[in-house]
Amino acid sequence: MPKAQETLLEIDLNALKHNFEHLKSKLLKNTKFLAVVKAFAYGNDACEIAKYLQDLQADYFAVAYANEGAALRNAGITTPILVLHPQITNFKTIIAHQLEPSLYSAKILNEFIALASAENLKDYPVHIKFNTGLNRLGFWENEVDDIISKLKETPSVHVASLFSHLAASEDEKEKAFNLQQINTFKNIAQRFIQKIGYKPMLHLCNTSGILNYPEAHLDMVRSGIGLYGFGNAKTESALLKPIATLKTIISQIHTIEQGESVGYNRAFKSETITRTATLPIGHADGISRIYGKNKGYVTINGQKAPIIGNVCMDMIMVNITNIDCQEGDEVIVFGAHSTSAEDLAEAANTISYELITGISQRVKRVLIR
Ligand SMILES: *Cc1c(COP(=O)(O)O)cnc(C)c1O
Repeated sequence: MPKAQETLLEIDLNALKHNFEHLKSKLLKNTKFLAVVKAFAYGNDACEIAKYLQDLQADYFAVAYANEGAALRNAGITTPILVLHPQITNFKTIIAHQLEPSLYSAKILNEFIALASAENLKDYPVHIKFNTGLNRLGFWENEVDDIISKLKETPSVHVASLFSHLAASEDEKEKAFNLQQINTFKNIAQRFIQKIGYKPMLHLCNTSGILNYPEAHLDMVRSGIGLYGFGNAKTESALLKPIATLKTIISQIHTIEQGESVGYNRAFKSETITRTATLPIGHADGISRIYGKNKGYVTINGQKAPIIGNVCMDMIMVNITNIDCQEGDEVIVFGAHSTSAEDLAEAANTISYELITGISQRVKRVLIR
């Protein structure tokens, strides 16, 4: 790659392919793979990622909201798309773009069936979400009978899948809880299938579920973070490749005398002569203020430069006192061959998901094929 001349998020599609194949290698041959591309494919580029994964034969996509699914359809995605958290006000968008809603409560189920019937739809694919312990979205186990009687009243929808979501699939210490969720879900599914008289697909595992609970892969798995290169554990992440590298450059270098300050509220005070570099990336680009005051760092010519003072909206300042560098030099914020987003996030007590999904749309995305 040529050196960056501005702030860029480079997205390596070969790494994406590696991760997809690595995760697929954990599955039985007939287990389907749903690629989670919500939130701009975790801050990458949902349309480009989905196009690439569609070519690699991903079986399904998932987004959080209807407009994310509509954007994929407009980009030419024809693979089925599950909308995880549809809002009633967007049901028309869902139907217009052949998106498949997750129905997670009686209200959502009734409203969707009402619209599907009014539009004379037949066997429109929907997905029924059960709450088995995360206590976020989903029907409870004791609602199965009510759901079935509602579904039996109408030919307008067809249940394409039943699913649930694990609360702590990455957490060794919560193994018993996860196993309980798996068991509860299997029981719900068995009763549901018996009563409805046909077999929807069953799915439960996210990335860490794929890695830690092979017995729960069922008919399909749903992976997000793993595709983007992180396994929620050092040993798992080592087998994956981060697809995104966030780069910027040095705009200006200053030499600060002892006792001078840097940045807003004078949050950094120099104890000795200090060289600083100002970089064109700030909290409006997704580098949260939590990375300021020496918590976060960037890499310049292979060396770590701590972020000093407060993160500004459009800039950060880093300490380069001991680094041989010049204005215009390339800077790596996180990436495949340097500090990973997982490590940088950890330095500020957060997780890779938050750091990568937060990289704002202002940052130019560059695809590497
Ligand atoms: C976001 C999400 C996923 C993907 O989880 P990862 O940990 O990124 O693999 C899977 N299922 C549901 C319901 C989700 O909301």
